[in-house]
Amino acid sequence: MAKRNVDSEVLYTEVAKLLTDLKQCVVLTGAGISAESGIPTFRSLGGLWEKYDPAVYASIEVFRKDPSKYWILRGDFIRNYDSYQPNNAHLALAGLEQMGIVRCVITQNIDGLHKKADSKHVIEVHGSLREIYCLACGKEYRVPHIPGGTPPYCSCGGVLKPNTVLFGEQLPRDALTKAQEESAWCKIMLLVGTSAVVQPAASLLFLAKQNGAQIIEINIEKVFPDADYFIMKKAGIALPMIVEEIKKIPIL
Ligand code: NAD
Repeated sequence: MAKRNVDSEVLYTEVAKLLTDLKQCVVLTGAGISAESGIPTFRSLGGLWEKYDPAVYASIEVFRKDPSKYWILRGDFIRNYDSYQPNNAHLALAGLEQMGIVRCVITQNIDGLHKKADSKHVIEVHGSLREIYCLACGKEYRVPHIPGGTPPYCSCGGVLKPNTVLFGEQLPRDALTKAQEESAWCKIMLLVGTSAVVQPAASLLFLAKQNGAQIIEINIEKVFPDADYFIMKKAGIALPMIVEEIKKIPIL
């Protein structure tokens, strides 16, 4: 049961104090943190899954048979990778890292916005849309030098695939191992804008909880019943408010 699950000034003060006292905070983010940057989420109301069946449009099995399906979804999801900018939530997390409070951000997002916000320690467990590569010859293309077309093709004639994890694919081993280590070790896990249903990323939350971490959830809906603190607010508003509260705490 959350100690606090309202949006009150006291709650921000308590969360700020906890972060300042314990530090060693690991952040787990999902699509909701980028919603205020104009990127649609998958599962929330009006999300992409209402329009596209993930089993068809974002599975590796279907991609191998008909890659155009994925590239149609991609066109509707992030048309122009470079046009999206980090919002106040991404920037606040980068600031908390600079303050020595956040150790790293583990993100399920593939939009690259944490890195654009200048967070230094980012683990992209589902890969990134920055790069695509040829399934035939392995040649890599990076944004903005991505060929057009649905699907796009390599100069060798092979079809191009994003460097992201599709349904039915394994997560990048190194990223997952690092994410598990950080989650098992942290004193606070800050859960931001994720429905926490996609595995194995969601299991990181339980790993943190089992190892005694305090869980702070920021979301516009409550997802994790066992969170110690729940802030029901948009991430782009709540995170800067926490940073402001931390700045009020005197340094001893
Ligand atoms: P999700 O779509 O399942 O859930 C989004 C969550 O964010 C919901 O709980 C919703 O209530 C919350 N939310 C929406 N707006 C918010 C806001 N302004 N502030 C705080 N919370 C907000 O997302 P997920 O859990 O990340 O799982 C979806 C999967 O789809 C991930 O694996 C991810 O790779 C992928 N995805 C990525 C992006 C991206 O890169 N931006 C976008 C959509 C989906």
